[in-house]
Amino acid sequence: MIREPLIFELSAKGKRAFFFPTLDVPERKDCLAGISLRHEIQGFPEVSEIEIVRHFTRLSQTNFCVDTSFYPLGSCTMKYNPRVNERVAAREAWLSCHPSAPAELVQGNLEVLKTLEDLLSEITGMDAFTLQPSAGAQGELTGMLMIRACLQERGDPREVVLIPDSAHGTNPSSAHICGYRVVEIKSNEKGTIDLTSLDQAMNDRVAALMITNPNTLGIFESEIDRIAGIVHERGGLLYMDGANMNALVGKFRPGDMGVDVLHLNLHKTFSTPHGGGGPGSGPVGVKKELACYLPVPVIEKTSAGYTLNFDLPKSIGRVRSFYANFLVLIKALAYILSLGGEGLKEVAEVSVLNSNYIRKSLEGLYHLKYDAPTLHECVFSDKFQKERGVANIDIAKRLIDYGVHPPTMSFPLIVPGALMIEPTETESKRDLDTFIEAMKAIAKEAIEKPELVRTAPHTSYVKRLDETKAARYPVLRWEGEKEE
Ligand SMILES: *Cc1c(COP(=O)(O)O)cnc(C)c1O
Repeated sequence: MIREPLIFELSAKGKRAFFFPTLDVPERKDCLAGISLRHEIQGFPEVSEIEIVRHFTRLSQTNFCVDTSFYPLGSCTMKYNPRVNERVAAREAWLSCHPSAPAELVQGNLEVLKTLEDLLSEITGMDAFTLQPSAGAQGELTGMLMIRACLQERGDPREVVLIPDSAHGTNPSSAHICGYRVVEIKSNEKGTIDLTSLDQAMNDRVAALMITNPNTLGIFESEIDRIAGIVHERGGLLYMDGANMNALVGKFRPGDMGVDVLHLNLHKTFSTPHGGGGPGSGPVGVKKELACYLPVPVIEKTSAGYTLNFDLPKSIGRVRSFYANFLVLIKALAYILSLGGEGLKEVAEVSVLNSNYIRKSLEGLYHLKYDAPTLHECVFSDKFQKERGVANIDIAKRLIDYGVHPPTMSFPLIVPGALMIEPTETESKRDLDTFIEAMKAIAKEAIEKPELVRTAPHTSYVKRLDETKAARYPVLRWEGEKEE
């Protein structure tokens, strides 16, 4: 592969994209002075138009994305999001609204938000929603703050939150930021919450259990009603991390199974492309008893139209400025309405089917620590390949040579050498087969040519990076020629 030079390296003095015609009026040098003239940038690249176009087009093609290939990153739901939702969200009418516009001037926008809240309540079986949080993690914090407010008002503030050992790292950190001490609950040999451990840990100091269902192994917590029973009988509340809602939409409502608070990740389940840091959205749904603690403002429908109610004495307060990541919410609403109830159900069914197809096709070649039926994702490990000195990272890197994005690695922590694969509903059988064939080929290579896998990728733009250094000290600015 040819190395794409930096734009600074393409630079040659005096090159321009275009030249202005000669002035036919007197020149004035003072109008831009101090505002837009950028003399101070040393070595500012000078290139022609076609060089700019080619440079950035080539760079754009080195980007891996769901528009070009399969992206099986587990726990992230990297599905294809229909363009029509982007089109709807990009309408000038939304874009030109000012975020500080008074409610009476943005009735349509408020109707969009209220409609989405109601639909999310219907989909999840919750009674009320806030759309404010900008991500799953912020939704968790919002949810935990409401739980704390509720228990404090009951005169029973508690100090512990129980979290299964398979949970996403944001769960313990959200509970911790909210002032709770985290106690870990062990998973049983089936990969689900061990009821005996839960029973022992659940006492009058425990504020809540944070559960993920299906959990991060893709396994449904089928004892959810007993789990909810144990937590509720002893005065705790049940929080559900809804990041895996793609496996449930249209099929199962957490609110019907005793969940008191849950967050969704609209950028996972409801049509917002993600990666690169957002914007995202992590709405939080609550049961009636907790609705009084929702962040302000709350959108209400009155006889005079939609209003923003800031007068909620028990509210935990605002969790972000303005309304929310509004355009993400429009995309979610467009997605839900365009699929309809039946379409959403199919999303869950096909994503589960696709994941099971992969699991069944690769079992025997890759180790499955928990060989239970899975929903939308499955977690293999590198146990068989490790015997030849090939680790999960090598397998992930080798997949790049086969044109596939690496799956999620080394998570959940209870599976050593994990390879977590989430195909989502948008992949065709043909694309799944291509992936399966690549995984089979790599399993064979790990036996016959382990060195080839260990040194992968061989075809990509950059090879093995020092990942810590690349993340901590990214080089974003050209500092002039340097020795390699
Ligand atoms: C993605 C994810 C989160 C965190 O959500 P963000 O939107 O990235 O903040 C929490 N829990 C699980 C299970 C997840 O997959």
